[in-house]
Amino acid sequence: MDMKKLAAGNWKMNGTRAALAEVDGLGSDRVEVLICPPATLIAPLADRGSRVLVGGQDCDARAEGAHTGDIAAAQLLDAGASHVILGHSERRADHGETDAQVAAKAVAAHQAGLVTIICVGETEAQRDAGETLAVIAAQLAGSVPDCATATNTVVAYEPVWAIGTGRTADASQIAEVHGAMRQTLAARFADADGMRLLYGGSVKAGNAAEIFAIPNVDGALVGGASLKAADFSPIIAAL
Ligand code: PEP
Repeated sequence: MDMKKLAAGNWKMNGTRAALAEVDGLGSDRVEVLICPPATLIAPLADRGSRVLVGGQDCDARAEGAHTGDIAAAQLLDAGASHVILGHSERRADHGETDAQVAAKAVAAHQAGLVTIICVGETEAQRDAGETLAVIAAQLAGSVPDCATATNTVVAYEPVWAIGTGRTADASQIAEVHGAMRQTLAARFADADGMRLLYGGSVKAGNAAEIFAIPNVDGALVGGASLKAADFSPIIAAL
């Protein structure tokens, strides 16, 4: 399968319309570039005519209704999004999201026609206890729904201890987890070879090339270094 690599930026709760100028020069024929801004900026970014793909940072599992503050997958699509991040560790921690809830959101997103980026990752305590591969396998089993395909699903491995901390997993740790994820997914999905596996956790210009050379790393989910074009462009170039 022809698998284009993916550089995905997660702006989290950062940015107002003035920040959209950072995106204007991004975009590539060689790889996919995706920006997931705050919900308020999805339509303005999609309407800007930039070459980047646009995504949400979460969606609800329900289609519509009396759920104040929540956003349905179809509403993200309507605003111009093609992707949605689900199960980010900050949502699992801040909002108590469970694997089952993430899977339900993914089903709703797929039904609406969105590509999901489903995040998994161990805490530092879990790594220290030698539980990393078991934690990741359980999160994949619980968070990735049966309707996942290489076309509608991307999986992001984001060690919780590496997000926003300046610490990155080393090459052998990333290779081990990504290899295990590929095997676990292959046991469930016929097209798992084509499912893109992103690494996330303090990716920056200085470490991107080394990370992208690791087997089974098909791109990156980037937080802090996706906010400024000067930081994100070299990461895209390294893919
Ligand atoms: C993230 O938020 O998904 C992330 C990886 O953040 P950072 O790149 O800032 O560590």
